[in-house]
Amino acid sequence: MTYIEKVLNNLIKNNPNEPEFHQAATEILTTLAPVLAKYPEYEATSLLERFTEPERTILFRVPWIDDNGNVHVNKGYRVQFNSAIGPYKGGLRFHPSVNLSIIKFLGLEQILKNSLTGLPIGGGKGGSDFDPKGKSDREIMAFCQSFMTELYRHVGADTDVPAGDIGVGGREIGYLFGQYKRICDEHVGVLTGRGLSYGGSLARTEATGYGLVYITEEAMRVRGDSFKGKKVIISGSGNVAIYACQKAQSLGAMVVAMYDSDGYVYDEEGIKLDIIKEIKEVKRGRIKEYAERVKSAKYESNCKGIWNIPCDVALPCATQNEIDEVSAKVLVKNGVKYVAEGANMPSTLKAIEVFKNSDIVFLPAKAANAGGVATSALEMAQSSGRLFWKFEEVDKKLKEIMINIYHNIDKAARDYGYDGDYVMGANVAGFVKVAEAMMAQGIV
Ligand code: NDP
Repeated sequence: MTYIEKVLNNLIKNNPNEPEFHQAATEILTTLAPVLAKYPEYEATSLLERFTEPERTILFRVPWIDDNGNVHVNKGYRVQFNSAIGPYKGGLRFHPSVNLSIIKFLGLEQILKNSLTGLPIGGGKGGSDFDPKGKSDREIMAFCQSFMTELYRHVGADTDVPAGDIGVGGREIGYLFGQYKRICDEHVGVLTGRGLSYGGSLARTEATGYGLVYITEEAMRVRGDSFKGKKVIISGSGNVAIYACQKAQSLGAMVVAMYDSDGYVYDEEGIKLDIIKEIKEVKRGRIKEYAERVKSAKYESNCKGIWNIPCDVALPCATQNEIDEVSAKVLVKNGVKYVAEGANMPSTLKAIEVFKNSDIVFLPAKAANAGGVATSALEMAQSSGRLFWKFEEVDKKLKEIMINIYHNIDKAARDYGYDGDYVMGANVAGFVKVAEAMMAQGIV
């Protein structure tokens, strides 16, 4: 049995009922064999065992009172996974599906993603099984205040800096920050994704979606290709999806379909993003309404059906495991040329195999969606320096970071003899830096 097999077997045995964590660990570790062969000291110091075990896991109770005076209790999580290269950094997810397995898979991915940005940030992730959908603003505030009343003990501008994720946007970050400041009496960059009036960065809202399109654009450019005239499908209609759509459209692409967790809309004339934004960002409504308002659009109440629509570019931007083996095969059969992951782990292991065995360009999440956390790190830099950069300045830095990530993962893949395998390239390029820092810091 190889060292990697031994570590994976133990990880699965010692962390039962955590399928998403097993999946992410398998995806990462199975690509690292050439690195371990080159650096035998990693096995000698049980580096993989240390890398896959969070430095700290915090679980807590979050009690809150709804508008009718009823008391609810949710579970709160913060997994501080790895601080070898910088303070823990990673979002908070509020969604009923949240459990320890999901937070750990996201945290593990985050370590390598943050490393790929080239910025000094470690990996962490957190959240709650709280469902913000249908809650009043006061209920959201009550929940966020209760959540931070425990979390504040564990976070700090130089310790752990959470941000948003599914279900946590500007409104939630505002309430969380307000409570942190009230308890700690510190106006510091303890959370990113803050509003512009209290320490946020321009372009943070757009960053993940824009970054996804920038890295895909670079993969196209080196192949003599571009977004111009490309037919694009984007799953989700939240933060990442909306700004990926905006940037792709600005580069001349035709985005024809998007979804939310109830179903998808297909608009053969091209998605009118202002209407999606009004429904999703302003009214917090359902995407079905788009088809009621736009004549050329059709609505289908089956999310997965979106992958049956022929396209040149697929940008999964909703959630984990939204593309399975069957959907991946349909995409490839229908002639997709680029799949770039905006969401975290949107493709199952079998779907990834399908993409790898085809001749499409597949850009995995930890590289493709790193623009969000990279811009969060730029927000941290502005907070520390009491600076406020122009939109163009942040956007330019974001674009440079995404282009660098593309070339780094491309080079790592080539250096190890896996030309064009960006899953391998991203894992290796991200891992090598973290491993080097862990080795330098001794057995900790
Ligand atoms: P949002 O909450 O803004 O949007 C999520 C979107 O995905 C919504 O349209 C939501 O639909 C849909 N969705 C969520 N769960 C499901 C599901 N089980 N089935 C179908 N659709 C679903 O989140 P973000 O846009 O911020 O995040 C999307 C993805 O991108 C996540 O995987 C996140 O981890 C990742 N990501 C986000 C970053 C960021 O900066 N925001 C950075 C890097 C990665 P509905 O409204 O019906 O729930």
